[in-house]
Amino acid sequence: MTVTSTETVAEFAARARRWLTENMPAIDPENPPFSVRAEQQSWDRAKELQRKLYAGGFAGICFPREYGGLGLDYAFQKAFNTECRFFEMPLILNTPSFTICSATILDVGSEQQKRDRISAAIRGDEILCQLLSEPSGGSDLAGVITRAEKVGDKWIINGAKTWSTSAFAADYGLMLARTDWTVPKHEGLTMFLVPLNAPGITMRRITEVNGNEEFCEEFFDGLELGEDAVVGAVNDGWTVASRQLHHERRAVGGGSEFASGTGAENASEMPPNHVAIATATGQADDPRVQDLAGRALVRRIVKEQLIDHVGASIADGSLPPNAGTLIRLMHAETTELEVDTALAIAGTSGVIDDGSGLSDIGVRYLSRQTGSLGGGTSEMARNVIGERILGFPREPAADRGVPFNQVKRSRG
Ligand SMILES: Cc1cc2nc3c(=O)[nH]c(=O)nc-3n(C[C@H](O)[C@H](O)[C@H](O)COP(=O)(O)OP(=O)(O)OC[C@H]3O[C@@H](n4cnc5c(N)ncnc54)[C@H](O)[C@@H]3O)c2cc1C
Repeated sequence: MTVTSTETVAEFAARARRWLTENMPAIDPENPPFSVRAEQQSWDRAKELQRKLYAGGFAGICFPREYGGLGLDYAFQKAFNTECRFFEMPLILNTPSFTICSATILDVGSEQQKRDRISAAIRGDEILCQLLSEPSGGSDLAGVITRAEKVGDKWIINGAKTWSTSAFAADYGLMLARTDWTVPKHEGLTMFLVPLNAPGITMRRITEVNGNEEFCEEFFDGLELGEDAVVGAVNDGWTVASRQLHHERRAVGGGSEFASGTGAENASEMPPNHVAIATATGQADDPRVQDLAGRALVRRIVKEQLIDHVGASIADGSLPPNAGTLIRLMHAETTELEVDTALAIAGTSGVIDDGSGLSDIGVRYLSRQTGSLGGGTSEMARNVIGERILGFPREPAADRGVPFNQVKRSRG
């Protein structure tokens, strides 16, 4: 619930501007500081900055006061986002910790979970992550096979999760497990809030093709959790997971009121500067290169207009909330086109160190598809658009309505 502020948005923005100038490190928004998500020191720095925001009274602007926030509406957060563009912000805490995990706990968590976890995140003391995907596959999220069994008043967890973004830096994870195998797959799931330093968890970093080690995999061997670890209701984990996916779509589309500050977290997320690449490689006057760069630039402009159009249409009810998937798909495809175009223009300079300073384009090319996978793949996004926005028939599913222990599946 939002509260009425005694300040207008303009007064709040002016106060924020003064406070930011006096307390936060100034940056050039065109060249933000490099924040490597795979390195612990980036998270330590983010926590330090978050603590400053909290001490200054500018943390958790849209989270309720009783959980450590300010309880103000989105207009105040947007005004703050405009002001803080020129200052170093703990942007890596936004997703998934604030925009997905804290937002979900706020929707469906217990009173204690809200008081403990959301306020600790807002204070800069804790980070939250998502433990959803499994080695057997991530697209079929309702098909998870990590097992949670009730023994006395404890839950015993056995199984494995993978692709958990920045779990190595996190304190708690939202983990989906199967608690009833005798009902159809969506009906036997429960969400748990897992302390990541608990005995029974082995966490390993995953080395990506670009050399980064941001993702983790976790193995649960007899992990014990109390009843207070359940988020929402037992066997109603799909409701919780659906809220998570909803918040993820909004976060990826840049429309979450729980994100503080906007813009790229690091240089590798800034759109490539195709004109600068063409100039550096002596091709600025080449009409073919100008065509390539123009095509990418037009796509970026269309994407920005689509974000505004879809956002407004969801708000006025002319499009369903699932329409956020259109933004997510367009974002993924635009990123791929932009990076492909950068490499096409850079040519060999993008992959060898010839002194032009462009070889990072080749490294970036290796991870250009992350936007087409994270938070659900582009194929799954097309399914959502087809079935839930355009009203096409649902794709056949052999497991629909079948008790999960009778569903045929390969050995995971
Ligand atoms: C940047 C990034 C961040 C991520 N962060 C997290 C995280 O924090 N926590 C977490 O739990 N997971 C995370 N993931 C994992 C992500 O959710 C999964 O990669 C994704 O759901 C796909 O699952 P999968 O990789 O197992 O592919 P699979 O599900 O095995 O799919 C393989 C291929 O088959 C296609 N496919 C599958 N089913 C269908 C269908 N019904 N119709 C059409 N095509 C289909 C898929 O599109 C894909 O191309 C992240 C991934 C990335 C890239």
